[in-house]
Amino acid sequence: MASRSAPERGRNIDVEGAYRAAEERYVAANPESLAQFTRACESLPGGNTRTGMFYAPFPLAIARGKGAYMWDLDGHRYRDYAGDFSAGIYGHTNAVVHAAVRGVLADGVTFGSVSSHEARLAELVCARIPAIERVRFCNSGTEANIMSLVTANAVTGRSKIMVFEGAYHGGTLSFPPGGSPINVPFDYVLAPFNDIDGTSALFDEHGQSLSAVLVELVQGAGGCIPADADFVALLREQATRCGALLIFDEVMTSRLGPNGRQGALGITPDMTTLGKYVGGGMTAGAFGGRATIMDRYDPRAKEHFVHNGTFNNNVMTLAGGAAGLEQVYTPVAATALTESGEAFRQRLNALGQKHGLPFQATGFGSLMNIHFIDGEIRSHHDLARRNLTALDLFHLELIAAGIYITRRGYMALSLPLTVDDHDVFVAEADKFLSTYGELISA
Ligand code: PMP
Repeated sequence: MASRSAPERGRNIDVEGAYRAAEERYVAANPESLAQFTRACESLPGGNTRTGMFYAPFPLAIARGKGAYMWDLDGHRYRDYAGDFSAGIYGHTNAVVHAAVRGVLADGVTFGSVSSHEARLAELVCARIPAIERVRFCNSGTEANIMSLVTANAVTGRSKIMVFEGAYHGGTLSFPPGGSPINVPFDYVLAPFNDIDGTSALFDEHGQSLSAVLVELVQGAGGCIPADADFVALLREQATRCGALLIFDEVMTSRLGPNGRQGALGITPDMTTLGKYVGGGMTAGAFGGRATIMDRYDPRAKEHFVHNGTFNNNVMTLAGGAAGLEQVYTPVAATALTESGEAFRQRLNALGQKHGLPFQATGFGSLMNIHFIDGEIRSHHDLARRNLTALDLFHLELIAAGIYITRRGYMALSLPLTVDDHDVFVAEADKFLSTYGELISA
């Protein structure tokens, strides 16, 4: 194995130079991942089928995982802090979830009929998130959000949708600075996140034509930025006033407490969307809400909405998800993971203060994002000045130290990560800030 330790920093090097040196070490240390990337580029654009998995110079190809760890094709072991962007809450080999999936595999997987599994997961979801009186499953968070929006349009007879700057609701429902050319073509009103006055003005202007207000309670891809409680309260009040449905995208945030983030905020939406870990790590999506809305999907009702999907009720997702919610990610476990995530995030923020450097972790509970920037972060506008090269360098140096985070600094803690793992992470981050502090202080 090539040496993976960071060499002493020479004089006159800037952060770009330090990044280039780290990249050279990365290339030397990961020949099998490079070979895999080169091969993949022949048949997949950019060598992958999920854009967020790419980072320069090429991504590590992961071969296997166990608990909180994973190994790449070159045999390096990593503490997994990416947690598959929050889908991997159970770690890589949870015995309960795997037993449930193996159990259904043994009995066959594609029936083209109902089974007992969908009702079991549905009961657990409805019990966990009381605002979901009825739920329907689908195959991804993206699909869940699209379904919630078309439901809102159909129920209200309107078609304008309020979303927020920096939001991410899926591969075709994404609102980064500069927009996305591949969004599904809904009629959007783009409102400023966490800005009560700016958003109120847009309600005044468009309220009567809004079918839905779709919001993340912590903007995930946008940098792990929590929505202020009074901002969410404003959305509730205004949506009710205008006759629009308030939809909470809890695809990521439903893990942040026994009853989702909405439970902790004490604010009830009309609809909620779920995904990620809800299928135990298998393909998952769900949308649900008040019975009066969701019962439009009852096939016994006159003029009901037809919602099909070959894999909506795939038994691996349903059985794995149900076992996980019932036996592993219980309400008690949700509280504990949220608290330990907060404690870990505070340790990271203390490092920034200790070194007097622009280094902080935003987020809430087990979801967080490291940013090389100082000052308060309440919307993606506040991230404009962040030092992305420092973040790229941090990413490669953590990888070299056996810690896997996402290139954008996002982390989703899994249940098998321990305080010992966090100690290692904090020590490596501390070392990074000592080594490169002078380069990133400006
Ligand atoms: N909503 C949010 C808040 C998300 O974070 C994501 C995925 N990162 C999605 C929706 C889309 O989910 P999926 O990737 O399963 O389509």
